[in-house]
Amino acid sequence: MRCKNCDYRLWNLTSRQCPECGTPFVPSAYSFVPNSVRFCCPHCSQEYYGTASNGHLVPDAFDCVRCNRHVHMDEMVLLPAEGFEEDQTEVERLAWLDRGKRGVVRAWFAMIGMALVRPGRVMELAPVDGAVGSAWWFAVATSMIVGCIAMIPTLVLIGAMSFASPRGFVAAPFAGVTCFFLLSALVGIALWGLIAHGVLAISGGTRGGIGRTYQAMCFSSGANAVTAIPCVGPYLGFIWWTVSAVIMVKVGQRVGGLRATLAVLLLPALVIASTVYLITLSVRTATTAYTQALSTQTTAVADAILRYAEAHDYHGPDHALVLVSQGILKPEQLTAFKYASTTQNVLVGDGTLDDFASAAPSEQLRQASAAAAALPEDVIAHRVGDYVFTYHGATLNECPAGLWIVIESRDPQATTQTPGSPLAASVNVGKADGSVETIPKHGLAQALQAQNLVRASIGLPPLPDPATVTFGRPAVGPTVPVAVDTTGISAGAP
Ligand SMILES: [Zn+2]
Ligand SMILES: [Zn+2]
Repeated sequence: MRCKNCDYRLWNLTSRQCPECGTPFVPSAYSFVPNSVRFCCPHCSQEYYGTASNGHLVPDAFDCVRCNRHVHMDEMVLLPAEGFEEDQTEVERLAWLDRGKRGVVRAWFAMIGMALVRPGRVMELAPVDGAVGSAWWFAVATSMIVGCIAMIPTLVLIGAMSFASPRGFVAAPFAGVTCFFLLSALVGIALWGLIAHGVLAISGGTRGGIGRTYQAMCFSSGANAVTAIPCVGPYLGFIWWTVSAVIMVKVGQRVGGLRATLAVLLLPALVIASTVYLITLSVRTATTAYTQALSTQTTAVADAILRYAEAHDYHGPDHALVLVSQGILKPEQLTAFKYASTTQNVLVGDGTLDDFASAAPSEQLRQASAAAAALPEDVIAHRVGDYVFTYHGATLNECPAGLWIVIESRDPQATTQTPGSPLAASVNVGKADGSVETIPKHGLAQALQAQNLVRASIGLPPLPDPATVTFGRPAVGPTVPVAVDTTGISAGAP
């Protein structure tokens, strides 16, 4: 008990004036820890102990048991009780509510410490009614300080990268980040408290109103100070804040642990769930679009073959380069972008597909004819870029609709051996009816077996693994009668 004007100790006095400065005082204007103060009768020194929650006498006026005089506690001589030091009689006040006396900085640090390790005590000290505005000020100050500290590494990085514009380069992002943290803190806490109190209100009674819940959310934001630690801070800080908030809501509103937990966790759970949902959705949408784009490329190649065949008695070109030399297919359409191939790293004979594409039309025709002539008579499949062509020997308007005419297959000779994207785990095949089927890579061998049955039904030899087919080494098989008849190979024999 000290003079509110000059801080002089007011113990052991019969006078009701400060001996130092003369300011009047009454003991009832002070609060004490219960039973920590002796109240002595001013007439006979009989001792009484303050047992009320604020350390006052109950009742505050009575007849003295020794001298029988009527006494009031404000007349009495006060001393710390036996075994109590003076500072042990002082009622602990919530640091933030005492910031005028302690100083804002010290009060703030004290609150951070309490929010981190003694969150329940914060709510024991916070008044059930009122102090909501103070709690909001604390939350605003904390989120600004923590936000600014957390951003320092990033700002240093931005600063280091923008030597060209030294003026204002830190100020602008700094102001932006500060505003962002402030706004998100205010909106976030407002929403969080509203939802938490809604859950509490639905699930039963509470000790205080929504202001009490906001006290808990605002004061527990002190635990968010952990966010200022680089890297792991934001995650740890938010978890710590949540745990402190649960404890503060539990103590502050005198509700069970389960209710407090549900109330506090509902909003974060909703945010996490919807974030996961949105990410999943966008990944799925992107994957679908990507897969479609990839099969579109195979569709274009199959279309080119079929368009050529329509004008050539339903036979595919002798070599796929013919499609390019005739302008039916663009050279880059023969490199699948999911394999990261380009016309520069796909080999075509002595040069690259790019060399072929940049040659004069007449030279392209010559090279395409030469490539066609270089294919063996019993060719089953040949490759250009990332596509293996498998229509040899088939009449495309008479064959089964499911006959494969082109298989997408990463060029094993491509000079850039970048691993394919995860989406390259499937393979597209173009069919004689112009449709495209997407086959997972692990199912390719089985699909190939089924396809070879289709081929056998029209007398075509089985296809090998498309990955074994290169530009210079087409797949060849046992001579089939059809091939002999249509090519006139017997002319070479006498
Ligand atoms: Zn004084
Ligand atoms: Zn007395």
